[in-house]
Amino acid sequence: MVKGMGARPHRLGVEPLFQSSVDEVSRLVGLKKEELIILEDADRAASELLVSEFEKYVERKYNPEIMGVLKRNNLLGVPIMEEYGGRGARQLVEALFLERMGQTGMGVITFSDVHQCLGSLAVQDWGNEEQKARYLPAAAKGDTIFAYGLTEPEAGSDPASLKTSYVKDGGGYRLNGSKYLISNGSIATRMIIFARPQEGPGTPTAFILDTKDKGFSVDMRLEEKIGLFTSDTSMVSLDDAFVQSEDMLGQEGKGLAVAYSALLNGRIGIGSGCVGVMEDCLNQVKERATTRVQHGKEIARHQLIQRHVAYIESSLEACRWLIYRAALKKDEYEKDLKNLALRSESDRLSAVAKYTASRCAFGSADRAVQCFGGFGYSILSPVAKHFLDARVARIYEGTDEIMELKIASSVLGREFEAYR
Ligand SMILES: Cc1cc2nc3c(=O)[nH]c(=O)nc-3n(C[C@H](O)[C@H](O)[C@H](O)COP(=O)(O)OP(=O)(O)OC[C@H]3O[C@@H](n4cnc5c(N)ncnc54)[C@H](O)[C@@H]3O)c2cc1C
Repeated sequence: MVKGMGARPHRLGVEPLFQSSVDEVSRLVGLKKEELIILEDADRAASELLVSEFEKYVERKYNPEIMGVLKRNNLLGVPIMEEYGGRGARQLVEALFLERMGQTGMGVITFSDVHQCLGSLAVQDWGNEEQKARYLPAAAKGDTIFAYGLTEPEAGSDPASLKTSYVKDGGGYRLNGSKYLISNGSIATRMIIFARPQEGPGTPTAFILDTKDKGFSVDMRLEEKIGLFTSDTSMVSLDDAFVQSEDMLGQEGKGLAVAYSALLNGRIGIGSGCVGVMEDCLNQVKERATTRVQHGKEIARHQLIQRHVAYIESSLEACRWLIYRAALKKDEYEKDLKNLALRSESDRLSAVAKYTASRCAFGSADRAVQCFGGFGYSILSPVAKHFLDARVARIYEGTDEIMELKIASSVLGREFEAYR
């Protein structure tokens, strides 16, 4: 257990809110026995990760335990279909799983979301039978770990401007370029890479790259972050990296469709993690405010502290149901994949949920730090970690601004899209 400047002992991960959430969802939509077992496994894994997550955060280091604990609890292939070795969870259960993991912080969420929602689900949704059989059982077991390489030094919010290129070479393709800010970048065994043709005006294509290829290298681990220390973020280079023809994912020229559909899944995941962050903030504030005495009474009795409690609770309730609604819509779309109206609705709700939950998680962490007072400003307080970590959710998988433009154009119509 971490020792240091903590003014008083605190408990990591005080828990009861998650159970009430599961009970309520189960009462409303019904959760099957196998689904409840996934959530029990998530509960155990989250408890097992609390100490190492906090210790690695204090040391500002990547937490290798995340992968091991999720593997041990069979939680690396939660949304992968059972026929490919996964647990076949619908999006609603995936959201509940990530909500629970989110209580341990966004480092765990980033690893899980990238491996499962951006990586594995991209293969499940866009891969051919051979690719699914080759990659998904290994991903579910943790023998394959995915990263998602879209962002480049000169292409972030505008992925259509990416410069990484590919050219046909014998039985495959040679890829050249750099990918920046890649989560799981130095631990992944496979990376979904988006690249455009070296010659001509063609649009990007998605590839599944083996990171053992000698043309792939990790330039550096990006460790000078303001938070999210327990998650690996790297810059990687492709120098004539070779991908076999059979590892093109989806059709040539359709890479952005692959990228955006992965982000639809990923945003529900990030939003779910943010709900977990809010739950932990509320739990921590409740415990601290009802025991810390100032001006002769517990600070929870001061009305202005109650305002912070009310903010966090309202944010949590609002976002939780927004996430479940986005997840339920995605489940509906999964049953009717040709329905484009349902796809747009699912995309809109996933953006609204991620945009709102990430802002509320950061706002809740800020309020929680305030309730903890000076101790809240210590990196050793349990809420400071959320304050530092949750900020990233307003940047990755679509910044606040890009989400605002996307949501607005979903209301106003595509002809009003401001970022094309
Ligand atoms: C810790 C971390 C992990 C990440 N993991 C991954 C990963 O695994 N894979 C991956 O591919 N990427 C990853 N990213 C990258 C992330 O998705 C990008 O940082 C993000 O999309 C923003 O791109 P950018 O940083 O280039 O900012 P820019 O695109 O340069 O944006 C800068 C600012 O300008 C605003 N802006 C840009 N265009 C517009 C516009 N049209 N209208 C209004 N405002 C605009 C943005 O909202 C932002 O506020 C990660 C980032 C971080 C910080």
